[in-house]
Amino acid sequence: MKIKRNDMVKVLAGKDKGKSGKVLKVFPADNKAIVEGINYLKKHARKTQENPKGGVIQRENTINISNIAVICTRCSKPARVGFTELLDGSKARICKNCKETI
Ligand SMILES: [Zn+2]
Repeated sequence: MKIKRNDMVKVLAGKDKGKSGKVLKVFPADNKAIVEGINYLKKHARKTQENPKGGVIQRENTINISNIAVICTRCSKPARVGFTELLDGSKARICKNCKETI
């Protein structure tokens, strides 16, 4: 996966374009993620026993992974992510701008 939990990402498209936030959850099967503060969904809640007043609930909705990019901690730009094989055979993510592993 190009995006991992706790990555700082920048939104490239959609209504929150230009904003950045921390990845809270990734859904690899759907190619989607939830990013803190991004893509807020307002939901009108019905009155229930737990929530007798009803009202508006706000929570983050999922965003398509193709619409976000990891911010590289070294060059602090949205990184084009590549993969490289380490000496022990495991794979690491790299920023294609500065070649730093991220
Ligand atoms: Zn970089």
